[in-house]
Amino acid sequence: MRPGYNAAMTGNDRARCLICGGTGWTIVTREGREVAVRCSCRREWGREAHLRACRIPTRYAQCTVDGFEIWARNDPSLGVAKRRTREFIELFPRSERGLLFMGGPGCGKTHLAVGALREVVAKGGVRGLYANFVELIQELQMTFDGGGRPRDEIINPVLEADCVVLDELGAGRTTPWVLDVLYYVINARYMSRRTTLFTTNFTVFPPDGQEGALRRTETLADRITAPLCSRVWEMCDLVHIRCGDYRMRNAPERARSS
Ligand SMILES: [Zn+2]
Repeated sequence: MRPGYNAAMTGNDRARCLICGGTGWTIVTREGREVAVRCSCRREWGREAHLRACRIPTRYAQCTVDGFEIWARNDPSLGVAKRRTREFIELFPRSERGLLFMGGPGCGKTHLAVGALREVVAKGGVRGLYANFVELIQELQMTFDGGGRPRDEIINPVLEADCVVLDELGAGRTTPWVLDVLYYVINARYMSRRTTLFTTNFTVFPPDGQEGALRRTETLADRITAPLCSRVWEMCDLVHIRCGDYRMRNAPERARSS
């Protein structure tokens, strides 16, 4: 943290910055000459603005990778997921390869994906965006009913951001139109070698013993088609969180007492 600045500063506080007094400029001496440079308070402000531009929902605003709790000691997949996320952050943007977080609801997929997004955006010079797949589709559908924001304003940031979290891949109703939109988004990001962090509740492979006609569980390929699934697979490393629901971790207590 730089002197004169703290993260809780409001616009009014910034006007009273101890370094620049709110002007946004400070005078430094370089090679014997006094020059005006942007004050650190404005650089931090820029970083905050980049984070705000990610449109991370308030619910996930505090999610960090370091804050990801290994809540089930007997489940190694949590630690592996956290370590893989850390590796992704270190390699970005030298490697454009993203991650596909797979696991049941509430296992912490979105937490890790958002934490990674926040860190790569904090590196600077990175346009990041969070998009929930179901909400994105709903918002696009609204444009056809004549409401909401213009279509390009909704879809272009998803195509153009350097790092996108696409949350809940394959959720909701997957009509042919939805699959067309999804193909358009994924293919555009694939062709321009932009990084995507997907999360999905669906498995990539059928669970053991459920091959062929015996299969009961829908896979990601069933939801978004095999060609799209393999394209996602090409763009990402798989991070499989195997354990149950974080939000239900006290449930066994209740189940026993009932
Ligand atoms: Zn300042």
